[in-house]
Amino acid sequence: MREVRAFLNEALTPELRAVGRATIGVHSDIAAGLKWHRRLYRRGWIAPAWPKTWGGTGWTARQRFLFDRECALNDAPILFAGGIRSIGPLLIEMGTSRQRERYIPAILAGDDLWCQGFSEPSAGSDLVAVTTRAVRDGDNYIVTGSKIWTTGAHLSNRMFAIVRTSDGGRPAQGLTFLLIEMPSPDLTVVPIVGLAGEHELNQVFFDGVRVPVANRVGEEDAGWGVAKRLMQLARSNNTPSALVRRVFRRAVQAATKAGDELESGMRARLAGLAVELDAYEAQELSAISRGPVDAHDPRGSSMLKLVGSELHQKIAELAMELAGPAAAAQTSCAAAENSWVGAGARAMAKHLSVRAASVYSGTSEIQRNVVGGYLVHG
Ligand SMILES: Cc1cc2nc3c(=O)[nH]c(=O)nc-3n(C[C@H](O)[C@H](O)[C@H](O)COP(=O)(O)OP(=O)(O)OC[C@H]3O[C@@H](n4cnc5c(N)ncnc54)[C@H](O)[C@@H]3O)c2cc1C
Repeated sequence: MREVRAFLNEALTPELRAVGRATIGVHSDIAAGLKWHRRLYRRGWIAPAWPKTWGGTGWTARQRFLFDRECALNDAPILFAGGIRSIGPLLIEMGTSRQRERYIPAILAGDDLWCQGFSEPSAGSDLVAVTTRAVRDGDNYIVTGSKIWTTGAHLSNRMFAIVRTSDGGRPAQGLTFLLIEMPSPDLTVVPIVGLAGEHELNQVFFDGVRVPVANRVGEEDAGWGVAKRLMQLARSNNTPSALVRRVFRRAVQAATKAGDELESGMRARLAGLAVELDAYEAQELSAISRGPVDAHDPRGSSMLKLVGSELHQKIAELAMELAGPAAAAQTSCAAAENSWVGAGARAMAKHLSVRAASVYSGTSEIQRNVVGGYLVHG
């Protein structure tokens, strides 16, 4: 831990820490986030949970947990890390050797940024209803259709997506998993502004985008199994406890400021959430100690996603209430780091942004369906 602290002291400049503290959405300002990504990469610590042969650190689960926590306590920027968290681990498991050689080093180095093209205007929870179509043309697929709610599509140069390659049979049977290179003249990214005023989301239109067949993961029409595995991997680290602890620290700071004037009801809620957060940390540590996400048991990753995202929301809501009247300040005040009004504006923006946590990566209702379904049917 001494080594980690020494590295963070040196590598996390005051500017990077300020960006980490100012983060409202699911990742920090992209330029600062990439700077931090590359510092971690050069130190060999960008993908601690990956197998050592693919760039992991070989740390124990407890060491990884403490590292994440230490980064959060030091206000490190939050990475835009779909590559590290979901598609990288998926390619290590299910990609071809050519795909791994082409994409893994660029994910680690921060040269490739990946977005997820699953949801469509008429396919969210019911993902097998996707209609974006890929038609085979020699060594390529020609992709036409649209994806929506695509986080960071405007920042990314790669997208992993599920597309329809055939009809008939059960809907899940005709889906194929593709790796799509962006930008492309036949691909348009249109921004969607979120509740907290942030531009993180997009709608993406494909008008005959060519994708080499070599960029298919798994067999044609067998992409649903690949997509389900991707979702398991993504849900297992969608809301790390370190992320939730960042918001909890803000709530404690606001409560400390109120001092003796803090209502007993607020104090009790804060204490209750402290207990829940400790329990969530124990749940996460136990899950990562068991080893790689079990492909045959989707409960663990859905339970982490469910508990983590709802706890994140409860804490962000309390932090907003603790900010009092300042929470009603204009979002533009959020940049004022050392002011009461700035803290209030940030608490409100965070609360609004975290409302989406129980929707993205599968809603809480869907996580409950997965866990309940497994308990009943195995
Ligand atoms: C901030 C944000 C970021 C996102 N980022 C991405 C991204 O990067 N890539 C991507 O592909 N998608 C992304 N999404 C989309 C997200 O995965 C979907 O919004 C989500 O899966 C729900 O789909 P939907 O919006 O179509 O809602 P619907 O599926 O229409 O659901 C509407 C409501 O009905 C409930 N419901 C639906 N089916 C059931 C059921 N079977 N049982 C019980 N309740 C049910 C849902 O829980 C929800 O409350 C993002 C969404 C948000 C909000």
